[in-house]
Amino acid sequence: MTAGVVALLLVLIAAVVALYVIRSRTTNWPPPNWILAACDVGQGDALALAAGPAEAVVIDTGPDPAKADHCLTVLGIHKVPLLVLTHFHADHVDGVPGVLKGRTVTEIETTNDPDPPRGVAEVTAWARTAGIPTSVAAVGEHRRFGPVSWDVLWPDPDASPSAPPEPAPKSHRRGRRQARASPRGGGEEGSGPNNSSVVLQVTVATRDGPVRLLLTGDIEPPSQAAILAAHPDLAADVLKVPHHGSKYQDPDFLRAVRPRVSIISVGAGNVYGHPSPDTVRLAGGSAGTPVLRTDRDGQIVIYGSARNLRAALRR
Ligand SMILES: [Zn+2]
Repeated sequence: MTAGVVALLLVLIAAVVALYVIRSRTTNWPPPNWILAACDVGQGDALALAAGPAEAVVIDTGPDPAKADHCLTVLGIHKVPLLVLTHFHADHVDGVPGVLKGRTVTEIETTNDPDPPRGVAEVTAWARTAGIPTSVAAVGEHRRFGPVSWDVLWPDPDASPSAPPEPAPKSHRRGRRQARASPRGGGEEGSGPNNSSVVLQVTVATRDGPVRLLLTGDIEPPSQAAILAAHPDLAADVLKVPHHGSKYQDPDFLRAVRPRVSIISVGAGNVYGHPSPDTVRLAGGSAGTPVLRTDRDGQIVIYGSARNLRAALRR
């Protein structure tokens, strides 16, 4: 074995062991210097980025107001300078009232795709009642809140993916039909709203360097390919795996991220078959990247710093 190979192996080993997973006691929550929380909201997404004392940028709200409220309560969040709604499916927006409950929410930002109309009407009514201004995320937008900053990578109204929706395999058809039959909907594959999800390339300043995160909503392969073509450097320390770990992923997109930890936000026993075992394997990659899942791990918090990145789990 040459010195070069040994050096490479040491780098690979360091990359793998650089993230420890700790089952934290609930008396010490959230862990100090927390960066990102993936809330345990069942089948859906709700994420929080620590932006200051008692303050977080919230991305999506999950389907259940009580679960969203509980997650932010245990994190100690009273102020939300920005609530980003990646798209208008129920599993991302129906928890909005739980985020608003007892908190100061300054602004709500959404995708430019007003679909499904029911979700748009709900969000519009909640924002109006609470007197919260709304805005639309745009590619190229750069925002900053305390140590958290990001670029919006998607949706790009000038570069809508032209590929047809992915067909559902036989094993998914039952779930797909159920999703379409349900007025709450929102889980089917090949969905326009999924592919219009707001995608954020986030940088969090920590004491020994930046931590990068890629937050992907429910984008599917057409959007994943378009984002990768426009942004070849998608490398991130933390990946929120698209669409609850659905089977439909562009392997090149996931490989380009090369994360130190992947997070799948998903509900146990969901009718969509999320997450797909293939996607869980893909997210783990050849380096054995930890893949944390809200259905098994509960609330997931990434904390620490660039050189000492850790994950804590709370059921
Ligand atoms: Zn979803």
